[in-house]
This record gives sequence, structure tokens and C-alpha cells, in this order.
Amino acid sequence: MNREITTEWISDKQQNGFSRNDLKAILLSNDNEAELLYEAAREVRDREFGKKAFIRSVVEFANSCRCSCLYCGMRLNNPDGINFALDHTELLAIAKQAYDNGIRTFFLQAAESESYGAIWLRDVIADIKSLGMGVLLCVGVHEETDLDLWREAGAYKFILKHETADKKLFEEMKPGFTLEGRIEWLRTLRKHGYHIGSGPLLGLPGQTIDSLVDDLFLLRDLEVEMSSVSVFVPAAGTPLENEPTGDPELGLRFIAAMRLFLKNTLIPATSTFERLLENGQYKCFQAGANVITVNMTPQKLRDDYTIYTDRFYVGLEHARTTIKKAGLTETTEGELLS
Ligand code: SF4
Repeated sequence: MNREITTEWISDKQQNGFSRNDLKAILLSNDNEAELLYEAAREVRDREFGKKAFIRSVVEFANSCRCSCLYCGMRLNNPDGINFALDHTELLAIAKQAYDNGIRTFFLQAAESESYGAIWLRDVIADIKSLGMGVLLCVGVHEETDLDLWREAGAYKFILKHETADKKLFEEMKPGFTLEGRIEWLRTLRKHGYHIGSGPLLGLPGQTIDSLVDDLFLLRDLEVEMSSVSVFVPAAGTPLENEPTGDPELGLRFIAAMRLFLKNTLIPATSTFERLLENGQYKCFQAGANVITVNMTPQKLRDDYTIYTDRFYVGLEHARTTIKKAGLTETTEGELLS
């Protein structure tokens, strides 16, 4: 494998395509090589989307979960879990607040919960849409008929992280589920008219560099519109609580690889980077990201949405400062994609 990455190497691969070994070399690059890769990734982002980024706001509206993912603090078998679900009025008030702050993409996120119904969610989507917001869902696997309800109400994008393209590791991490089923569900979302987003959780115990390359190929094969990476941070009270945290520097290389390989996907600077690295989200932008998500889950409930322990909560001011620091202009999703 050619491991020496130079500007010429990068332009050659950009012209002739990235092989598995090339992507592996990117993930294994040293710090000097990584700087060249980040510069090339920024150039691709700026060419595809302009020197711009947008802010979306997320509300985590229900946390009880029927699944038992080994890495997640909200897993069914977590005895310390406190369940909550926001009501329609609360959600609408938060969406209005986001709108008043210039945000035009509203991200409704929940665990795979039975604490809300499909019709209820349809009505929430319709009301948020009528404010003039794009509605993005991340609510796991439900009935296919629900997808039509939500799509018709105005939700247009759906994120379902595949977490790892390693079949065996997936089944170990998500007991009762298969990678094939996850991929099939992503294709089902597409069939029902959604733009789709996916990506891995980087640093899961047992994950390999080769499987991260598989993640990149899977994202390409699914033709996702949104691709993301979060770094594994152990959640207290889970079977993985004593496992080592994932490597955010490898995460940054993964962002650059996504930008260079997939080119025109929306890539968020996710909060785990800020939690693990000084200026972590700024560094994500420097590696090719172009989205940041502000957390608008009510303060009193946030600590019960335990996807990892000691979360970093992205505020609006932090998001705006980070975009500016990265030399980007804040825009809306609609304007970025027009
Ligand atoms: S990762 Fe999602 S599906 Fe898995 S236990 Fe946590 S909330 Fe449930």
C-alpha cells in the first residue's frame, strides 16, 4: 500500500478514484499527511457547496427504548433510566424558538420508543413544517405505513446510523438486529421518498480500520445525502462503560475521507468531537464538515438522553462562533442546496 500522501497523490486519486487501500491510507495518515487531506477536503466542500455551513436544531423528544444497544445509556436493560416524552405544545414552542433564531431545519430525534404514536408524530411534523421549517427525523425503525404518514406531513429527511458495516460487530452491539436489516431499512426509507443519512460510531470495541473502509463504501453504495461519524464515548451503566473512548483524530480523518470519497454529502460536525478534543467541532469543519446541530432539548431532560456520558451540548452561540472561526458563512439548508 502506498502510504506516502502528498498533494500530487491526493489529486491523482481525486481524478482516478479512491481504492480501498487509498481510503485505508487516509485513515492511517500521519499528522502532516492529514493536514494535506483536510485542505483537499475543504476544497471539495467549498466547490460542491460554497464556503458555507448551516445550523439545524435537534430536540430529543422521547428516551424510552425497546432496543438494547450495548453502547447506549438508554438501552432497555439500563435500570437507572428515567423515561420522558415531550408533548406537542412543548415541541412546537421549541421549533418556534429555533425559527425565531434563524434556523430552518428542525431535527426530531427519539429513541425507538413506544411512548409516542405515528399519528401524534405526523401532527407534530405538520405543525413544525407549517412554521416554515424543514423536518428531519431520526426515530429508528417503525412501520412502513408510518413512513408515508410522516413523509406526507412534510418530513423529508431521515437519519438512521448504521453504526458499523462489520456484520458480526453490528450483531454483537445491537442484539436482536442484523446489519442486512438495517441496510434494508435505509433502502426502504429511500423508497418512501426520504433523503437518507447514515454513518458509523467510530471506536466501538473490536472495530477495525478495514471495517471503517467498509463503512465508507456502504455510504457510497447507499447514495446517502447525509453522512456522519460520531466517536464512541462509553456511557455509564452499559456493558461498554469501561471500554476506551474512540480516537477523535481518526474521526477527523474519517470526515476527510467522507468528503473526498462521497464529495457532495452533508457532513455534520458532531458533538462528540467537541467533548473529546479542544475545538473539536472547528476541526471537523477544517476536515470538510458543513453542518452543526444545536441541541434544544429542554435543559431538565437532557441528562436523561444518555447516548454517552457527560455530553457536550452545542449551543447556538457556540455553533455560530465555530462556523465563523472556520471561515464559513452561516446559511440555511435550503439556500445551501439551492
Ligand atoms: S442507540 Fe438508539 S436504538 Fe439503541 S438503545 Fe440507544 S436509543 Fe435505543
